[in-house]
Amino acid sequence: PAAIFGRRRNSEGLDLSDPVAFGAMETARKGFATHRWRAASLGAMDASGDSMIVVANPADNSDTVGEVRQANGAQVQQAIAAASGSRWSEVPVAERAAMLRRAADLYEANAAEFFALLAREAGKSWADAVAELREAVDFLRYYADEAQKLKAPARGPFACISPWNFPLAIFTGQVSAALVAGNPVLAKPAPQTPLIAWRAVQLMHEAGVPADAVQLLPGGPELGTQLTSNPAIAGVAFTGSLPTARRIEQAMAQHLSPHAPLIAETGGLNAMVVDTTALTEQAVRDIIASAFQSAGQRCSALRILYVQEEAYERTMEMLKGAMNELALGDPWNLANDIGPIIDATARDKINAYVAARQDRIVHQLVAPDGGTFVAPTVLEVAGIEEMPEEIFGPVLHVARFNGDELEKVISAINNSGYGLTFGMHTRISSRVKRLAHAVHVGNIYVNRNQIGAVVGSQPFGGEGLSGTGPKAGGPHYLPRFTQGSSSLQQG
Ligand code: GLU
Repeated sequence: PAAIFGRRRNSEGLDLSDPVAFGAMETARKGFATHRWRAASLGAMDASGDSMIVVANPADNSDTVGEVRQANGAQVQQAIAAASGSRWSEVPVAERAAMLRRAADLYEANAAEFFALLAREAGKSWADAVAELREAVDFLRYYADEAQKLKAPARGPFACISPWNFPLAIFTGQVSAALVAGNPVLAKPAPQTPLIAWRAVQLMHEAGVPADAVQLLPGGPELGTQLTSNPAIAGVAFTGSLPTARRIEQAMAQHLSPHAPLIAETGGLNAMVVDTTALTEQAVRDIIASAFQSAGQRCSALRILYVQEEAYERTMEMLKGAMNELALGDPWNLANDIGPIIDATARDKINAYVAARQDRIVHQLVAPDGGTFVAPTVLEVAGIEEMPEEIFGPVLHVARFNGDELEKVISAINNSGYGLTFGMHTRISSRVKRLAHAVHVGNIYVNRNQIGAVVGSQPFGGEGLSGTGPKAGGPHYLPRFTQGSSSLQQG
C-alpha cells in the first residue's frame, strides 16, 4: 500500500454508479449465483471433523449457499497443539507483513466471489458488500504497515471469535492483527457465516501464511468455550454480544493465565441528538443510514434518536417519507437498499420486541416474504432508560427533549453503561464541544451518519459495556497482541 505524502491510501473498492466497472463485476459475480461452497476446518489438523451444516441464504430460504463440516473436539485439540508448536513468531515481521499485503491483493482479485458470498451468506446489499471488502483489505494493509512499529514479542496462540454481521471485515481484522504481531491464530467464525471465513483463510494460506499459523475451526458456542478455556490460549479477540463476552471472560479467568488479554467489542445503545438548528434533510438522510442500513445489524447503529421538541414534527414527517422510499428485498438486486436479518432466531427476537410495543409504533414498513426480513420500525419512547437491551435490527427509538434538558439527556445516555457510537446534528459549535466532551463513547460523529468507521482514519471501538478497547483500525490495536502491554501492566 502506497503511503502518499505520509497519508494512507484505502482500498479503492467499486464505484456502483460506474456502469462499466459495475457491469463487469456484476457479470463476474453471476458466476457464483448458484455456486455451492463446501467448507471445513483448515489448518494443521487431520481428523475428519463433525457433522455437515447447511448454510442457507437469509434473503431466500430456497437458496442453499453451501455446507460446512463442523470442527470436532479432536480437531480443536490438534489445532491448539499445532499452534503451540508453530514457529510463526520466528518469521521476521517484514515477511509476515508481506503475507498480509499479498492476502489483501488476493482478496481484491477474488472480489466477485466475496461479493456473492456477502450477499448470499450474509444478506449484504451491494453497497454494504463493497464497503466490507474494502474494510477487510484496509485492515490487512494497515496492520501490515503498523506491524513495523512493534517492539515487543508475540504472546502465543490467539483465539479469534468473530461475528456474522461483518463476516469478512471483522474476521480479517482480528486474525490479521493477531497474526502480524507474531501469534498463531485459531479462528472461530460465527456459525451463520463460515463459508466466507473459509475462503478468507484459504487466501491467507495462498498468500504464504503457514497452515499452523492460521487455522479455521467452524462451529458453535461449545467450540468457542473449548478454545477460551484451554490454558494454551494466550489471548482472545472477540466481537459479539455482551452476554457472550461475559461468558468468555469467566472461562478465561478460570482457565487461562491472568495475563491473557481479552480484546472485546460488544454492543451499544447508540444515541443521536438532533436540535432545532439541524438541517432536517441532512439529519434525516443520516438517521436513515445510521438506523436502517445493513438492516440495523451493526453495533454502531443508531438505536435512539433524541429530537428537540420544536424540530420533532418536521423531522418525523420527513423521516417517515424517507423510510417509505426504502426498498427492502434480496440484496442480490442492486435496487434493494435493505436486506434480511441474518436468521430466523434473530428475526423472531426483534419481532417479539416490537410486538410487545405495538402501542409505541409511530411508523413501520412492510417486510417482504421469502426470507428472514424485518420491517423497519420507529418506536416512540420517553428516553433511553426505557430500552432494556440492544435490539440488533432495524428498530429506531425516538424521544423528544426540550432545549433546557440537554444535560439530562447526556446523563441518561451515559447511565446506560454502554459507550460505542454517538451522533449529533447541530450547528451550534459550543454544543458540539459540550456533547463531544460529555458523552462517553468510543466514536462520535458530527453532522453525518454514525456508521462505517474507516480503517486508519476512524479507529473503531467502545468503552464501558461496549468494549475493552483498544480500537480496531487504530495505532493502539496491535500492541495489545504483543507482550508489550499485558493486562496487569495496564492495570
Ligand atoms: N465498524 C462498523 C461501523 O463502524 C461496526 C462494527 C460492528 O458492527 O461490529 O459501522
